[in-house]
Amino acid sequence: MPLVSILDELKKAQAGGYALPCFDTFEMHGTMGIFDALEAKRAPAMIGLWSGMFDRPHPRAFADYVRAMAEEATVPVSIILDHGASFEHCIKALDAGFSDVMYDGSKLPFEENVANTVLVVRAAHAVGAAVEAELGHVGTGRTYQEFGAQGKGFTEPDTVVRFVEETGVDFLAVAVGTAHGLYDGEPKLALDLLAEIRERVDIPLVLHGGSGLADEQFRAAIAAGIQKVNIFTNLAVGATQRLLQHAKEENASVFSMTGQVRQAFCGECERLLDVFGSTGKA
Ligand SMILES: [Zn+2]
Repeated sequence: MPLVSILDELKKAQAGGYALPCFDTFEMHGTMGIFDALEAKRAPAMIGLWSGMFDRPHPRAFADYVRAMAEEATVPVSIILDHGASFEHCIKALDAGFSDVMYDGSKLPFEENVANTVLVVRAAHAVGAAVEAELGHVGTGRTYQEFGAQGKGFTEPDTVVRFVEETGVDFLAVAVGTAHGLYDGEPKLALDLLAEIRERVDIPLVLHGGSGLADEQFRAAIAAGIQKVNIFTNLAVGATQRLLQHAKEENASVFSMTGQVRQAFCGECERLLDVFGSTGKA
């Protein structure tokens, strides 16, 4: 089916009390595994492509591949730019056919984040794409003990209404205790803060740094108001472990190795679709 902007599906998730995944990918075989899972579970989803790809050779080739896969899928799929580093990156993504974009001005002062997000929203809405922004800052798992675990970077509820009203953003990533990559220590979610943010605004809310959370934490975050969960590290770590194991087998080959990546991505995506409640929602 044609590529879709995910906004309508996120609103359905908000009404229905479940969440949709954004599975990030950077190569073909894992991507095939993601689509295998979406088809098997009949789930709508976003495929996230990292903004940094536009600073590397051949950014369009991989985007074209993912778009072709999405168009062949029988479930609604959006391709979203993940952590758009600038207005220019967002425009490049829209030009490359992405159906939604995230602009990440979370490290900037509030006013600058607002001003840049406004520009991206105007450009994206003009071509039918939805926009995600980030308020507060989701840090890295490596520095979790000094940052996220200390409440640093957390989204301030008082700023959320103003940010949403002034930017016209469609969905919003919040910082409530998660981090990108592998966690140093155990992740702790500020569910009260999340619930407070949920009460103040009505747009879908996004949890980055989902990898590493326990299933109960995902369910609690979704119950408290999350509609989109970003996942990459779980997929990468699972595939790596599987490859290391498979490489010891006598008949391992490049063909079987790529198949292992596909199966590893598929298995973890299927599991998470069940946890998020998006299974059967396509
Ligand atoms: Zn992220």
